[in-house]
Amino acid sequence: MFSDKGEFKEAFLKKLEMTCGKSFSESSEKDQFFTLGLMIREYVSTEWINTNERYRVDKVKQVYYFSIEFLLGRLLHHNLLNLGIEDVVASGLADLGIDLAHLEDVESDAGLGNGGLGRLAACFLDSLASLNLPGHGYGIRYKHGLFEQKIVDGYQVELPDQWLRNGHVWEVRKADLSVEIPFWGEVEVREENGRQVFRHIHAERVTAVPYDMPVAGYKTDTINTLRLWTAEPSRYPINQDVLKYKRETESISEFLYPDDTQDEGKILRLKQQYFLVSASIKSIIQSYKRQHHSLINFHEYVSIHINDTHPVLAIPELMRVLIDEEGLGWDTAWGITTQTISYTNHTTLSEALEKWPVRIFQPLLPRIFMIVNEVNERFCSDLWNKYPGDWNRIESLAIIAHNQVKMAHLALVGSYSVNGVAALHTDILQNREMNHFYKIFPEKFNNKTNGITHRSWLLKSNPSLSNLITMGIGDEWIRDPNQLRRLLKFKNDSSYLQAISDVKTENKKNLAKRIRAQTGEWINIDSIFDIQVKRLHAYKRQLLNILHVMYLYNRLKEDAHFHMHPRTFIFGAKASPGYYFAKKVIKLINSVAEKVNKDSLTKDTLKVIFLENYRVSLAEEVFPAADVSEQISTASKEASGTGNMKFMMNGAITVGTLDGANVEIHEKVGDENIFIFGLRSDEVLNYYQHGGYHSMEYYHHDKRIRQVMDQLKSGFFPEVMDEFEPIFDSLIMENDQYFVLRDFSSYVNVQESVGYAYEDQKRWRQMSLVNIGESGHFSSDRTIEEYANEIWHIHPS
Ligand SMILES: *Cc1c(COP(=O)(O)O)cnc(C)c1O
Repeated sequence: MFSDKGEFKEAFLKKLEMTCGKSFSESSEKDQFFTLGLMIREYVSTEWINTNERYRVDKVKQVYYFSIEFLLGRLLHHNLLNLGIEDVVASGLADLGIDLAHLEDVESDAGLGNGGLGRLAACFLDSLASLNLPGHGYGIRYKHGLFEQKIVDGYQVELPDQWLRNGHVWEVRKADLSVEIPFWGEVEVREENGRQVFRHIHAERVTAVPYDMPVAGYKTDTINTLRLWTAEPSRYPINQDVLKYKRETESISEFLYPDDTQDEGKILRLKQQYFLVSASIKSIIQSYKRQHHSLINFHEYVSIHINDTHPVLAIPELMRVLIDEEGLGWDTAWGITTQTISYTNHTTLSEALEKWPVRIFQPLLPRIFMIVNEVNERFCSDLWNKYPGDWNRIESLAIIAHNQVKMAHLALVGSYSVNGVAALHTDILQNREMNHFYKIFPEKFNNKTNGITHRSWLLKSNPSLSNLITMGIGDEWIRDPNQLRRLLKFKNDSSYLQAISDVKTENKKNLAKRIRAQTGEWINIDSIFDIQVKRLHAYKRQLLNILHVMYLYNRLKEDAHFHMHPRTFIFGAKASPGYYFAKKVIKLINSVAEKVNKDSLTKDTLKVIFLENYRVSLAEEVFPAADVSEQISTASKEASGTGNMKFMMNGAITVGTLDGANVEIHEKVGDENIFIFGLRSDEVLNYYQHGGYHSMEYYHHDKRIRQVMDQLKSGFFPEVMDEFEPIFDSLIMENDQYFVLRDFSSYVNVQESVGYAYEDQKRWRQMSLVNIGESGHFSSDRTIEEYANEIWHIHPS
């Protein structure tokens, strides 16, 4: 059906009539998209079944990747590419007068994630399947993913994301594999044959229904599974408020990250977390039992990885199943559990370290709470033996303290592997943030620097550059991204460098066209495309970027001799709905854009663009068009970053602090091919520890800073005067927690050198080539191979 164009067309037309009940001439693009999607899903189904059969018969060890987020984006093009049927389909559709690119635009992003952590999970699924590794994803099928962002008068407005409006063609509902999850109720303890048994009674039950999606590897016959759970009512309780029960049940899989400032939201979040892990573990054990008689060797065949602490209840849930349902003793169950679960830490920001009040945890999950309590008591007693009398230490390491359950501590105690996501991050975990745990469990700690799938972020999103690379070094790089280093031989080949530059120009034109359509702004293609796209957060310092733009504007206005290469500063960022400061920064960026883009004196030199609704499908257009990649977080704060890797792979040059994986990018490309500025992480951490930074001094002593800061309050913008006062206050009154003013001067200097470097086009193109050539290390294939070999001990099958 997909090997021959004629056959494809015939099958397509037939399928379209059958599924849509319309003739081809009556059909809409939606119908055509849906038809093609169904054909692809059916096409993979045989291999999908075969893959599962192979895993089952060979009893291979499998890994299950638990994540509260999977930021998949669109899958049509991805699947066509991985299945190797893109050309047949594109040309068959073209014969019918259908543009494949238009069909792709029909698909909504599956935006079941917030940012890097969720996108990492999606990249990992692609690498697992492409490396023929037995690994599957488990998550939640949120009815609404991350909100859709609109900008109205410069402010962010959030609309519910309606990604399921037209159905989701890639999934298969498997209602027969549903499981029940209990909440609330009590635990009944009884003696049976000299053993205590626990029964969770009077619980409110929720049904978890799995929706499976095939995950096809790149041109392999491995099809793994992404299983996403939906919450539905179980049998309706008699004599109770049925509608309330239905509403509460369904809300579990309704929104990603419900607002948890109130208890009601906290309960919902904790419900989501237990719902995910309990359903997933039940389903894993069901399929395990079809191949094995006993659970004693469970950990030899199953690895469960928890992506950050959201799924950490996998630890007590697995204990519960092993003890309450399988009748194992505590020590045996603990041995199995702690050899099954591995954990990735994604942040050292203390506000992101999850804690749940006991008053919420205990009633909602009574049996799980008992188990966590027991884990805590045993751990504290070990600590007591190790550090007799050191109450302070024990209190700070305990899993439950001050009536709070600390999820990261549970993860550290109940897993066999704890990894950070970049060398610097792991170093900070081991030697600072989790140093006490590192001293107790040194063997658990390891680093796995993040990666991105080069198949999505280069092959698919930047086809022109991919073709040029293949022309230069053959197509082996698609399988083995380290081969990209072979590009380095073109460093002095001016025609190859010219060709790379031409591709960049073409990609810039495409992005400019989109910007023109969206904002009405004309963009100068010869300007430097300087891009910062990522979640809006104070530590990521979009504020530093926009204050620098204000400084450039002031220079241009005041100094007729000031020269700078024309630049287009492009931002894309969603702010969390309750994050007041982040929303102010979005407003500030839009206000600066308004002012600068309108000014006839500066508009040819300086442009500021805010791209609405940043998401995966938009990202795929943005990275290929970037000249400069802004990775300017406060050193020590960004665990890894993956946007930095996507930019590098597409030939952008990084302006960055020595933070997260920027450190490793710097090591790969060398001083001459990156622009590093600002405080180092140990300097930042020392300031936090010992003080000594006074942002006010920078305000007083640097008149560039004073000028832009005063403009936040002076009527420089048409907005009411106090609009940006909170930003001013965060930098002065709250002493600038993220060192924006401290790094300002260093940033101005490095940005000036970026401008000069760009004007030496030969040099710039060489830099760009080196970045592409060295980016293979940041493929998630490399990352996944490390996880597979060093943590999960799984093998290609
Ligand atoms: C890669 C990616 C991110 C992560 O970007 P960082 O710069 O690493 O924070 C966030 N959102 C989307 C849509 C992405 O593709």
